[in-house]
Amino acid sequence: MMSGYLSKMEEQGFEELILIHESSCGLKAAIAIHSTVLGPALGGTRMWFYGSEAEAIDDLMHLARGMSYKSAAAELPVGGGKGVIIGDPNKDKCRELFQSYGHCVNKLNGRFYTGKDMGLDEDDLTCMHEVTDYVIGGESIGSPSPFTAYGVWKGIRACAEEVYGSPSLEGKIVAVQGVGSVGELLCQHLAEEGASLVISDLDQGRVEEIKAKLGAKAVSPDDIYSQDCDIFSPCAAGGVVNEQTLPLLKCDIIAGAANNVYKTEGMAKALQERGILYAPDYVINAGGLIFVEMRRQGSTDDEMIKKEVARIEERLKKLFQRAREEQLLPGVVADIIAEERLQLR
Ligand code: NAD
Repeated sequence: MMSGYLSKMEEQGFEELILIHESSCGLKAAIAIHSTVLGPALGGTRMWFYGSEAEAIDDLMHLARGMSYKSAAAELPVGGGKGVIIGDPNKDKCRELFQSYGHCVNKLNGRFYTGKDMGLDEDDLTCMHEVTDYVIGGESIGSPSPFTAYGVWKGIRACAEEVYGSPSLEGKIVAVQGVGSVGELLCQHLAEEGASLVISDLDQGRVEEIKAKLGAKAVSPDDIYSQDCDIFSPCAAGGVVNEQTLPLLKCDIIAGAANNVYKTEGMAKALQERGILYAPDYVINAGGLIFVEMRRQGSTDDEMIKKEVARIEERLKKLFQRAREEQLLPGVVADIIAEERLQLR
């Protein structure tokens, strides 16, 4: 099972891959620490019933490395890590399991700070917190979503400046896919700035609510791609820009909160060929991470956190400038900037 993992660690610059087994409570888990070059590794723990152990470790390593890049791109003094607990979140949870996992996190002595990811809830974090201080999150810190939305709004302004020569979104048409906790707040910022909104969501109740509140035009989930708009803002799932949707797009800019908006480098190139500017996902959606890190450092001053999140606008402007000058895709430049900070280049 472990064949090839040390080579992969070497190739991708991983520091540690820790496998955990505790027979008394049946805990099977793993923690990956990709980088601590910039500070302790920070990343959530997810609980998932993976098809195989290899699938779990591959997912873990992919996510941990992604956290390093995201933190580095956001200029935060933390590195990247991630944890997985292998099990069914609907069947296999118990207090002993999370305490046992918490003990393992504690043994890393602050090299790894974790929080909530898919499959975990506040109660699970509380169990971990009973045995380790290296857990962040829960009700005490509040929701990162408003800060993610704020950063995405600022990032969209940087895109507008690059494409239209002005950051103003007044009169621009923005198609927002998914009006959940981030999408709704993003719509509010956009509406306040005078943008016209087109929205879609699988949840018709949310669509009706936001349509009434912000005067948005509502379209079906399938029709969001073909809207005549200036900006398409994916705030639901990943993989939404693909062979099927690409020919439908009429926007100049794609900039939203969703992770992995496209899956292949070929798609990034295709967007560029169609003259569509893409804001790299992990740069524009880092507001929530910046919030979590500043809370970890003890900040309770939300205005100060917002100021830090607002720097996403300047950061993206510089990234687009470098992409233009070096004739590279924005996603490639984002990776280069992160790798330079992580001393991987
Ligand atoms: P959320 O679950 O609160 O909202 C997602 C919304 O998208 C839901 O209302 C859902 O009904 C809708 N949706 C799902 N599939 C859809 C589809 N095909 N078409 C239209 N609507 C669809 O999630 P969120 O916290 O708002 O996060 C949105 C995205 O941003 C996710 O991809 C998430 O990974 C990413 N993200 C979120 C944060 C954060 O701070 N919450 C940070 C970084 C990245």
